[in-house]
Amino acid sequence: MLEINKFDRIIVANWKLNGSIDFIEQYLQELNCSKLESSNNCGIICAPSVYFHKLVGRLNPLFLGGQDCSNYSEGAYTGEVSATMLKDASCQFCIIGHSERRQIFGQSNEDVCIKAMNLIANNINPIICIGETFEEKNQNLTKDIIYTQISKSVPKNATKDFVIIAYEPIWAIGTGKIPSLEEIDNIHSFIKNEIQNIENYKILYGGSVNSNNASEIMDLKNVDGVLVGGASLDALEYKKIMNS
Ligand code: PEP
Repeated sequence: MLEINKFDRIIVANWKLNGSIDFIEQYLQELNCSKLESSNNCGIICAPSVYFHKLVGRLNPLFLGGQDCSNYSEGAYTGEVSATMLKDASCQFCIIGHSERRQIFGQSNEDVCIKAMNLIANNINPIICIGETFEEKNQNLTKDIIYTQISKSVPKNATKDFVIIAYEPIWAIGTGKIPSLEEIDNIHSFIKNEIQNIENYKILYGGSVNSNNASEIMDLKNVDGVLVGGASLDALEYKKIMNS
């Protein structure tokens, strides 16, 4: 598993259910990986798993990531992709517990915990997503929700050396709305300093990040990088975010 402490910033691209062979060819051309400046930043492209083979060996110095993995290792689970299969396909990171998986596909904190354990067993770095809804924010429940999500979905054998947490307020995903910089830093500080066993984990912010706001968000003391959805579908935009 990759030691993540050596990186200053982690910048995750989440392509979601987007992409095609043509899209990938153009993306790689625009990204021009061989010319990317070597830095202490860790760029991760989380693509649909059927396209991994089109990206393997062509992303260096960036890494390949998945968008979910099965709770199960093998068996009669039609449509599932296991952590072992992700490993076989050269995946080094994997997003789990994304709010779209939680809300649309009914995944629970307990599911996320099992997924994280499966990934760790296969030497894949988990990126565990957490975040509150707009209603929860308005009821001042953000810290309670985050505390519960983290306590239940981060496995006991996780450590800050290889597990990443992504704070993604659900109301900020794909909406163009983001919390104030102060709010982001405050929540990240809460996670880093006030949740037992999570001290000093790498915490990414996700939700409507683009090349205009990435730099001020990543400059915050308690932010270690960003998870980017929509804006990461444009290779040049993703490159700008990495250089922010
Ligand atoms: C996401 O997919 O997790 C995300 C943050 O999306 P967007 O950047 O489009 O808000």
